[in-house]
Amino acid sequence: MRAEIISVGTELLLGEIVDTNAAFLSQELAALGIELYHRTTVGDNAGRLKQALTEALARVDLVITSGGLGPTDDDLTKETVAEVLGLPLVLHQPSLAWIEEYFAKTGRCMPENNYKQALIPAGGEALPNRKGTAPGVSVRKEGKWVICLPGPPQELCPMFREYVRPLLAAESRGVIRSRVLRLCGIGESALAKEIADLLANQTNPTLAPLASEGEVRLRITAFAESVAKAEAAIADLEQKLRARLGQMIYGVDDETLEAVVVGLLRQRGETLAVAESCTGGLLANRITDVPGASTVFDRGVVVYSNRAKEELLGVPAAVIEQVGAVSPEVATLMARGVRDRTGSDWGIGITGIAGPGGGTAEKPVGLVYFALAGPGVNLVREARFTGDRQQIKRRTTQAVLDLLRR
Ligand code: ATP
Ligand code: MG
Repeated sequence: MRAEIISVGTELLLGEIVDTNAAFLSQELAALGIELYHRTTVGDNAGRLKQALTEALARVDLVITSGGLGPTDDDLTKETVAEVLGLPLVLHQPSLAWIEEYFAKTGRCMPENNYKQALIPAGGEALPNRKGTAPGVSVRKEGKWVICLPGPPQELCPMFREYVRPLLAAESRGVIRSRVLRLCGIGESALAKEIADLLANQTNPTLAPLASEGEVRLRITAFAESVAKAEAAIADLEQKLRARLGQMIYGVDDETLEAVVVGLLRQRGETLAVAESCTGGLLANRITDVPGASTVFDRGVVVYSNRAKEELLGVPAAVIEQVGAVSPEVATLMARGVRDRTGSDWGIGITGIAGPGGGTAEKPVGLVYFALAGPGVNLVREARFTGDRQQIKRRTTQAVLDLLRR
């Protein structure tokens, strides 16, 4: 089955609200194995809604609308659907009773306007709305199916789950499942090269790379007649990818890099302390975002000034004077300093230039040194990141966490 979504609401076009309904419906349709072909947004305008509906119904079997089921004159969705399908609007008595009762419960009389919420296209099915007055509608004619849902997400979402999902599940001939592999330590284009053969000529499962802050995600999506078959197809492709990309894959789905690092340290019974300059505590923040981080994370110090690096970590002023605060030597001394002074298994030192000012030809903005000190381990890395101040900070912590997990 092929579907489209039409979101109705002038506020959406003005950018006053974000179309979370369309995102919700898209995910739900994907999970049901229903292919979504288009998403359209129109204002509260009968002419343009009519045009959008007509076009959508010419392309697909199922159209789901969101919004415009309210009692006011600018709420036009059902009227327009009825017109496009060539069906009259008729009174749905149980819905009227429900709306009257809804007002009675709050001690009010039903305003005249709300009567129209109980009208549905002839032959349609009303979908009860427990969170508001406007019922939804499901109506079919000549192989075409339109489902109208109210705009407020607190009404649309439960209504979809309770009534629409079972209706669609009964019609759908398969499921779509997907899994995201998360990688770091490789760029999007290098990755695309590495798996070029797998990216070419793919049909089912499909494979799509997506770059985001300091990492790349690979989404595997499979369509199959059952969940078990879809998952088997995903597992098969995942295995091929793992054989090729190995260590670069750090997690799946919602797993974060910081959670992987905390999990690893916990498994080994090791502790960590970090000394941050240019990242200003972001690394400590990310690590402490992981529930249970206290079992492995001892502390983080933000040593921004040269004096702080000397007073708290014992980095000699003379060294900073000689080689500069942004140097492999200082990163190393910070890592060792924080490790030795806290008795932790691992120490991290980070120093760099986050910009936008402060860069020189020799030490440009984005230059970062980070060091790892541990049992018999003394590593220091140089990185040159691009981006604004926030991106450089974020990318630095990403690279440090990547080093920690290896
Ligand atoms: P109402 O009876 O509340 O008027 P309605 O079905 O007519 O319901 P709209 O008037 O289109 O719906 O929208 C009502 C409210 O629902 C909006 O002001 C907005 O807060 C929210 N809303 C509408 N559409 C969306 C959407 N696509 N995504 C998220 N929120 C939405
Ligand atoms: Mg409205």
